[in-house]
Amino acid sequence: MSGIYIHIPFCKKRCAYCDFFSTTLLNQREEYVKALLKEIVNRKDEANEPIRTIYIGGGTPSTLEPYDISRIMATIDAPETEEITMEMNPGDVTPAYLKGIKEAGINRLSIGIQSFQDPLLTLIGRRHNAEQALTAVRNAKKAGFDNISIDLMYALPTQTMSQWEADIETAVNLEVQHISSYGLIYEEGTALTQRVRNGELEMIDEDSENAMYDRLCERLKKAGFVHYEVSNFALPGYESKHNSCYWNGTSYVGVGAGAHSYIGVVRSWNPNDLNTYIRNINNGTLVRESETLTDKDRYNEQIMLGLRTIHGIDEAITRQIRGKYETILDFTQANLLTRTAQGRIVATQKGLHILNRIIEELMI
Ligand code: SF4
Repeated sequence: MSGIYIHIPFCKKRCAYCDFFSTTLLNQREEYVKALLKEIVNRKDEANEPIRTIYIGGGTPSTLEPYDISRIMATIDAPETEEITMEMNPGDVTPAYLKGIKEAGINRLSIGIQSFQDPLLTLIGRRHNAEQALTAVRNAKKAGFDNISIDLMYALPTQTMSQWEADIETAVNLEVQHISSYGLIYEEGTALTQRVRNGELEMIDEDSENAMYDRLCERLKKAGFVHYEVSNFALPGYESKHNSCYWNGTSYVGVGAGAHSYIGVVRSWNPNDLNTYIRNINNGTLVRESETLTDKDRYNEQIMLGLRTIHGIDEAITRQIRGKYETILDFTQANLLTRTAQGRIVATQKGLHILNRIIEELMI
């Protein structure tokens, strides 16, 4: 079973923390969608297994019209697909829009709420407010969507623990099926990073960030969510099937500017530039760069992706690499990793705080 990822690189406004590939040149949407449709047709045979999931991400896919989403879905033409997710900005989630994309086949929404606090939303440069975020979820439910994910961010400058607890509580009370939550990362070249450098804003310290993460994990666990990936929580049965492809090594085809594909042991990616992508598709010269994963790459991926999930890693893979099994034992003794009843190695709550460091130590 494989997945398809469709990249929509348009945003109405750039957020202050974002370094993703996206553009505010909305007048290129029609040209882009036409190029996307061509790429889908050209690569039809690459998904050599039945398509199980489709994920329309961005950027902001809800900058497209429902009609565009219908065209994309009709071109993929895979009516048996189990999970079809679309990312949305809360400001775009109107009843008419929801009706249109539901008719197009979307059955799961990922709404980029980030915070229910207006001052924080303004600070990070989001174009929606808290009221729109609440209305978005209510509208989505009314429109019949019963698989809704929301994104929340923590460790934002000036964010207090009580604001964060209020956000978690609001999220729980909204009764969505899935929550993804990320601590803010200060990426090079973003407006927020610059403001910290200028001394206008202060970063939250590491202990406070860890405390916010722990509070999130505890509260969502109490509310019945399964913490199935370091940043992802789902009610039982609502784990993202598409994202699980990335974590368990299932093949996926990525379509659109900058989109990555992974088929067999080959990873490939489209040019990360809108005009190059459109031009190359139109004149039939799209060349994807690619790399074939070596045994070392595949070992590293298993460590990096496996330890992020509830399924962890098989310790046997670390026995093949000198010194790595001993490192596992050290981490286990330090209560950073633990062995499950099924014999898998997973991160403990304490280990999740320094997961990147643990992964680095275990990689080769
Ligand atoms: S909406 Fe998403 S992709 Fe667009 S600028 Fe904001 S964070 Fe980046």
